[in-house]
Parts: sequence; structure tokens; C-alpha cells
Amino acid sequence: MEVFLKSFPDTRYTWGVFAGLQEVCILLEGRPVTIHSIPEGSLFRTNTPVMNIEGNYLDFGELETAVLGCLCQASGIATKAARCKVACGDKGLVSFGARRMHPAIAPMVERAAFIGGCDGVATLASARLIDEKPVGTMPHTLILQIGDTVEAALAFDEIIDPGVPRIVLIDTFQDEKFEAIRVAQELKDRLSGVRLDTPASRRGNFRTILKEVRWELDTRGFDQVKLYVSGGLDTDDIINLADTADAFGVGTQISSAATLDYSLDIVEIEGEPVAKRGKCSGRKDLLRCRRCMKDYVVPYGEHRACDCTGELSSVFVKVMENGKLVSDFLSARQIRAHCLDEVAAIQKDIPPKIFLGLV
Ligand SMILES: [Zn+2]
Repeated sequence: MEVFLKSFPDTRYTWGVFAGLQEVCILLEGRPVTIHSIPEGSLFRTNTPVMNIEGNYLDFGELETAVLGCLCQASGIATKAARCKVACGDKGLVSFGARRMHPAIAPMVERAAFIGGCDGVATLASARLIDEKPVGTMPHTLILQIGDTVEAALAFDEIIDPGVPRIVLIDTFQDEKFEAIRVAQELKDRLSGVRLDTPASRRGNFRTILKEVRWELDTRGFDQVKLYVSGGLDTDDIINLADTADAFGVGTQISSAATLDYSLDIVEIEGEPVAKRGKCSGRKDLLRCRRCMKDYVVPYGEHRACDCTGELSSVFVKVMENGKLVSDFLSARQIRAHCLDEVAAIQKDIPPKIFLGLV
């Protein structure tokens, strides 16, 4: 059987990030099946196979729905996270989406967000799953209960482990500019950042507000204070703010990303090519040129050269042999690094807006 994606959920997408492989392996481990797959975190395009499962259908067919469920949602989230990361450029990106998800799946969601390119996740269970430290900022609840932003910042600074960056919300009671100045003057070089989670009803021109806060902090010598931005951000907003903000907290747009609707189809039975209508039969290989990143789908075992004359190599690797894992799982950080490398190789010097199909 072959896992395959016919179209992306958004016409602006030209590539996706393959995610969820580790869970598929856990699901099928011990069953007499052999899996070849593109590595988790790889970029792929539509109409190319991304995974092959070989075995007796009855040994794994009952898990067909679960296999697709593992891949479709994780890949949708990782793809959206990668798009947000491209929009960020060299600025930071933190997954804030756990609160939008049922807690039973939130760690899976945040793992996918991380491997797609988020620099960190905000909840403990998610961070444990990917073996990373969770990241976050001061909450509004602390400021509301203490009654003043600066008092709350000082209390946070007094109590919280010194290893935790002091990032203070400045949109709770007063104007962002004046709150930022007050907080910076009190915490001085202990203040690592301020966060603007400004509600949409007060936002006006958010970019101008950010620039003003930056100016006022710099004028007073607080260049080290970074600007964190959050609140309903999507790729367009990130691109618009990326020259001024230092890091973005993105929730719903990543956690509720549209799924990538892979299909899982029989393409070969007992060595004979057979597939349903609308589907090419036979086992296939996916070849990629590392010089120009062009992909070619060929019948399994066939070779060819790239149109650019570059050498092609198979993207597929064997991940499971007769129910046994071929190698240890990579860490989420290693998978993420692979994903970032792939994005960089395909993006090259294309500006984010064009690369993401936003213009
Ligand atoms: Zn090529």
C-alpha cells in the first residue's frame, strides 16, 4: 500500500512537511509488515508517494484509519508551522496552541509544531514528549491579581527560577509604550523581553505600536529587551511584523491547521501492479535531486538523471522490517533540523511572501 497526497488543503501550498511517522511505527511495530518511508520532517509535493507498507493486508488493514490519522493531522500542523517559520525569517516562533486542543492530543500537536519549525512549546507534557524545556511568559492572571504590571513583574522576578527569562506582558492595564518603559526601568538588564498580546479591539496599527515601543526602549538604552508578539497571528501578520518583533507566539493557526488528506491505497498485490481508478499502480520510488530539489516518481528500482543533469537519489528509507524497527527514533530536535534544512534548500533566496504563495 502507498501513502500519497493528491492536493494540499490550501491552493497557496506548494510543499508539505511529512510528520507522524514515529507514531505509525509504534502502531505497527510487532506486526509482520515492512515500511519504507520518506524521513519524518522531509518536504514533499503532491502526487508523490511518501510511504510504502508491505505485508498481508489482514495483518495491518484494521489500522488503516489510525495510520492515516497519525499522518494527516501531524503533517498538517508541521506544514503550517514550517510556513510560519518561513514567515518569521530569523525571528523566534513558539507554539501557543495547546489551549486550543483537547489535552489528550495537545502533546502530539505541539510535537508536530516543533518539528515543523517552532523553536519551543509552551506546556509541560508537550515539552516532555519532545525532550525540550517548555517556554513561556508571565500570564495576564498574575498581573490582574497583583493589580499592577510593574508590581507583578517584580514579584515574578523575585520568586521565579533565575534561569527563566523575564518576559513581561505589557498590554494588561495601560498603554504598551508606557508599560514597557516602566517595566524596563524597574527590572533593568534583568528584563529579557516584553510581550504584546494586545486585543484586536485596541490594536489599531499593530506594526506602528511595535515600532514605537522599540524606539522608546532603545532611546533609553534597553536594546536588549526583546519584543514578543502574540494573539491570533497568521503568516501574513508575521511577515508584516517580522522586521520589528523578535519572536512570535502562534496558537490556533498552527494547532488547528488543516489536515493533509493522504490516501492509503493498494498499488500492488503479489508483485502484480493493481490500483483503483484514478491511481497509478505499482510500487514506486521518489527520487530527488539535491542540486535543484526537483522530484521524480519512477517505478521502483528504476533510475534516471535530473533534467539539470544533477544526480538523483531515493528519498525513501526502510524504517521497519517485518515488524522490527530498523533504527532508533530520531529526536524531535533532529527531525526539526532536517525539516529546516529541507525548507532552506527549497526556498533558497526566494522572499518569504513569494515562497509561501502570499502574493
Ligand atoms: Zn536537478
